Amino acid sequence: MNRIGIDLGGTKIEGILADENYETITRKRIPTNQEEGYTSILESIKNLVLELVQESNEQVSIGVCTPGALSLKSGLIKNSNTQCLIGKDLQNDLKNLLHYKVTIENDANCFALAEAKLGAGKNSNFVFGVIMGTGVGGGIVIDGKIHHGRTNIAGEWGHHCLHTGGNSCYCGNKGCVETYISGPALEKNWSNLSGLNQSLPEIIQNSDNPNFDNWKKIFLDNFGLALANVIDILDPDIIVLGGGVSNIDFLYNEGKNAVYEKVFSDIIDTPIIKNELGDSAGVFGACML
Ligand SMILES: [Zn+2]
Repeated sequence: MNRIGIDLGGTKIEGILADENYETITRKRIPTNQEEGYTSILESIKNLVLELVQESNEQVSIGVCTPGALSLKSGLIKNSNTQCLIGKDLQNDLKNLLHYKVTIENDANCFALAEAKLGAGKNSNFVFGVIMGTGVGGGIVIDGKIHHGRTNIAGEWGHHCLHTGGNSCYCGNKGCVETYISGPALEKNWSNLSGLNQSLPEIIQNSDNPNFDNWKKIFLDNFGLALANVIDILDPDIIVLGGGVSNIDFLYNEGKNAVYEKVFSDIIDTPIIKNELGDSAGVFGACML
């Protein structure tokens, strides 16, 4: 059986047709056209899937990687940054449109699954995959399977509380990890400290600025505590970082040390490494569902 994986992103929808061993047979990419709304996105996914099905000479499985989580209560999408998906029953709507069974999974879980099977975590049984980008999320993969947890929130470390009464988060709580170490949160803190509105890559280039060391110290303190909490509870074999923030080199030396300092163990050596699949983790994770 072949496998189709669709990665539904904010600006593009990417699809692959792969064989049993996840070797790519065909890969296609189309724009998301978010402004045209939900029905248009459904149509785009349908057309992309049908094109890929036509190129397969075997039966296919279909997985879709989507931003946001699936509510266990309602089956609907929640917390998605592709706003028109919120409250929609994407899984059933696609099933009805395509007449195929479709499995949907959030992007952080797809990232962790793909990295665990094909990427930086492929020699580890227990992988914690981290996405630090516009938002902060995570996924837990044990023995090649996503660990969802009792209520489907396992891995959502981006919304555990780092500072009681801290920054307000869109989720309704205060002090969430996401409000400290997501890309936008880091840029906001830089703006508060330096008065400069710069993107994360620009900030990293600006290390001569007198505010840089302070900004970096706060960042590493928060990064260290957030991942030390994960290690204390899960003790994974490896932590793989993804998302735009994962391109910052100092996370893999000074950042790692900041984590180790806070872990409740005297033999801490958990590898904290960069992803290997980059933007492709979504489609590969989707085709593994
Ligand atoms: Zn939150």
